[in-house]
Amino acid sequence: MSAIRTLWRTGILGRCPECGRTSMFNSFYGLHERCGVCGTRFEANSGEWLGGTAIGYAIGALVALALALIEVQWAPIRSAGLPAMWTIAIVSLAVTVVGYRPAKAIWFALVYEMGFMDPDNGASRQ
Ligand SMILES: [Zn+2]
Repeated sequence: MSAIRTLWRTGILGRCPECGRTSMFNSFYGLHERCGVCGTRFEANSGEWLGGTAIGYAIGALVALALALIEVQWAPIRSAGLPAMWTIAIVSLAVTVVGYRPAKAIWFALVYEMGFMDPDNGASRQ
């Protein structure tokens, strides 16, 4: 149940995984170094952004695949008079860009649940 709460609170809402009282983000993509309430260090290791990037690209790829399958089956994009390949590419790129923030939040929820974000001393448990 705790993992579901963390995925909701951090992965969906973008809030601190430990206390849930503040946002992890200081801009659309940028993270605070630490939680302003409980002091949990969000990005304890350099390169932790990579997991969020991978999730973001996976979401974009899944959207592109779904749109391609829908287009092959029912051709709604060509029926609307749009070039199918470019439309799918632009939509999936937009989804990747907009979806990077929740992808990053989901990644940090997973990092927290796996125990790599230590709320006690702010350092990583490795
Ligand atoms: Zn906190």
